[in-house]
Amino acid sequence: MPQVQPAQRIAVVGTGISGLASAWLLSQQHAVTLYAMPFNTW
Ligand SMILES: Cc1cc2nc3c(=O)[nH]c(=O)nc-3n(C[C@H](O)[C@H](O)[C@H](O)COP(=O)(O)OP(=O)(O)OC[C@H]3O[C@@H](n4cnc5c(N)ncnc54)[C@H](O)[C@@H]3O)c2cc1C
Repeated sequence: MPQVQPAQRIAVVGTGISGLASAWLLSQQHAVTLYAMPFNTW
């Protein structure tokens, strides 16, 4: 019988394609916070 994993709090740093895709996928089962750098710090 498959075990249901409890939701986790996950931080994703960076809003490139990898960060956006993983944050979106993880957000279906977990509480995700996505961190982006402000434009003026690039
Ligand atoms: C000039 C150039 C042209 C390219 N052309 C193509 C192309 O035509 N086709 C193609 O398929 N690929 C192309 N690529 C490759 C493509 O851009 C990368 O493979 C892709 O962007 C990688 O995505 P990523 O999410 O892993 O990283 P990135 O896109 O680099 O995303 C990382 C993100 O993390 C952020 N970040 C980093 N440190 C922090 C921090 N401390 N706090 C908060 N945020 C942070 C960055 O600001 C960035 O937004 C090109 C790359 C370059 C440099």
